Amino acid sequence: MSRDLFASFAVVALFVAIWALSQEWIRTWPRRWRMLGAGLYMGLAAVVSMMMAVHFTVGVLFDLRSVVLGLAGLFGGPVAAVISGVIAAAYRIWLGGPGLTAGLVTIAAGCLSGWIAFALRKQFGSWPAALTVFSVLQASVPLSAMLFLPAEIRALAFYGVFLPLMAWSFLAALLSGNGIELSRRRGWLANMLKDAIRQAPDSFYIKDRNSRFVLANSGAVRALGARDIDDALGKTDFDFDAPDHAAVLFDAEQEVMRTGEPIVDLEETIRSHDGTVRTYVTTKSAIRNADGSVAGLVGFTKDFTERVALERRLQEQQDDLDVVLSGMSDGIARFDQDNRLMFQNANYAGLFPKTGAARRPGAALADILDAVLASGEQIVDPEMRAEWKARVLANTVTGGEEQVQMADGRWLRIRTQPLMGGGAVVIVSDVSAFKRAEFEQTAAARQFRLLATTDGLTGLHNRRDFDEALAREFSGGRAGHGIISLLMIDIDHFKKFNDFYGHLAGDECLRRVAECIGQACKREGDVAARYGGEEFAVILPGTDPTGAAVVAGNLLKAIAGMQIPHEASASGVVSVSIGIASGDVIHSGATELLKAADAALYQAKSDGRDRFVATRL
Ligand code: GH3
Ligand code: MG
Ligand code: MG
Repeated sequence: MSRDLFASFAVVALFVAIWALSQEWIRTWPRRWRMLGAGLYMGLAAVVSMMMAVHFTVGVLFDLRSVVLGLAGLFGGPVAAVISGVIAAAYRIWLGGPGLTAGLVTIAAGCLSGWIAFALRKQFGSWPAALTVFSVLQASVPLSAMLFLPAEIRALAFYGVFLPLMAWSFLAALLSGNGIELSRRRGWLANMLKDAIRQAPDSFYIKDRNSRFVLANSGAVRALGARDIDDALGKTDFDFDAPDHAAVLFDAEQEVMRTGEPIVDLEETIRSHDGTVRTYVTTKSAIRNADGSVAGLVGFTKDFTERVALERRLQEQQDDLDVVLSGMSDGIARFDQDNRLMFQNANYAGLFPKTGAARRPGAALADILDAVLASGEQIVDPEMRAEWKARVLANTVTGGEEQVQMADGRWLRIRTQPLMGGGAVVIVSDVSAFKRAEFEQTAAARQFRLLATTDGLTGLHNRRDFDEALAREFSGGRAGHGIISLLMIDIDHFKKFNDFYGHLAGDECLRRVAECIGQACKREGDVAARYGGEEFAVILPGTDPTGAAVVAGNLLKAIAGMQIPHEASASGVVSVSIGIASGDVIHSGATELLKAADAALYQAKSDGRDRFVATRL
């Protein structure tokens, strides 16, 4: 029986083999045609299978029709399954006989098994599972058919026919399903590769041992200037290129094939067929046979013209920028996000002569700062070194500007600007001249202020400054004092002094008395002024009459202690008379206080001079 079934198996195998071999061609059909084709083809296979069937008795046939019908469903889906099933059923009905029902059941079950496996595969995506289910279902088809055979035939057929039939069905389903799938996949992979190579915009070609094209994609055809692929095949570069360039290519390729050393990323600039100058990057490597001998080479050429042009433009821009930066008087440095020096102009290192060597590309900012500290190039408070370093490092993230003084006296302004993509640009300017001007300006202003408020001869406050200071005391500008004392001081018999010694000596005397007054009133807030001529006035804020009397007494003593000769006076030395007026800033006024002090001074003069007289408001 098995031998008889083998003919049926051979039919299946033949049809399956043809189907598998045609996969590449069928692949190009539209989907609908593929399904229809599978249905018709497998329907025909089922008919042939039935023709070659084992005729058990008249009208009872055993064969492997269910397997081919199942394959129609498995690979073509429900439409193919139905088409093939209808064809097979029509033929079986035409044959007739007692096995007709069982035969139709076989056809239906065969179609159904393929359809089920097809649906399973679609649902779960597992080919091994689908094939296993398909094969098992196929093995069970004869069983289901058996139920529909007349009982007496069924009993006869069981051992002799059904068991071998089930085994053959299983085997045929497994082998043919697997065979078709494998050829489908192989075709699929090969075609993917072919498409990928053909559609690649770059040149791809394979040459034989004599550098003749055996394969060229459309990119290669275009680059060669060939009409089409067939025009290129069998030819060499000599057929398309200038002889000397073709010779260079040929020699290089022969070298690759002889040594096995590939050419990798060889850059070439050549005038192309359309007259433009283009840049190509080529890689060529030898292809070997299974026995290791060189069969030819595979070449891959990429058009880099645009890329090269872009790089050149970038380089030009970089050069322009370098010219601009190097022409700047400022020093410029660029640090990356890891605080490493990437770029600097010439002036940058020049501004730091002692650490110029540490400021080289790739250097870490932290190391540069250490070099600054070690060289003492910049004036950094020794106790603040760590803070200084941390601050400068943080500036590359937060940005910052500072003016720093260098040990050689220069002042640098260092601006740090963080960049969007990380890192920072540092701009260093020498602001020494500016700093000097600024310093001179403030010194001059100070000097001017001094001139405007001091008396030229004595160095005490002048009258105007005194008036302002006194007015401030009363306007509450110096709140919190409350009590205030005023001293009016006049040199005794000064007219006579001048007359006797001359005006120059008089001025010298004024200076010495003024110095004495300045020293006697040195408390914070005291204002000693030259009130006019040889008269002086002193504001003693927050000083009560007792305190004022002490100041006045001390002053008299100090002046007496100077022993400035005054031949024209009775005592023989210079003395002063002092009028003191004390009041409070809330209940009395400046003029009132001045008048009272003046009156007290007058009293001191009339009382015999070289003394003080105090009044209270
Ligand atoms: P006394 O005050 O003791 O009553 O006598 P006195 O001679 O000092 O009189 P008075 O205070 O009125 O003196 C004013 C004199 O002071 C006039 C002038 O000779 C002198 N004098 C005023 N201003 C200056 C000055 O700036 N330089 C000099 N050398 N003398 C001056
Ligand atoms: Mg006077
Ligand atoms: Mg006087």
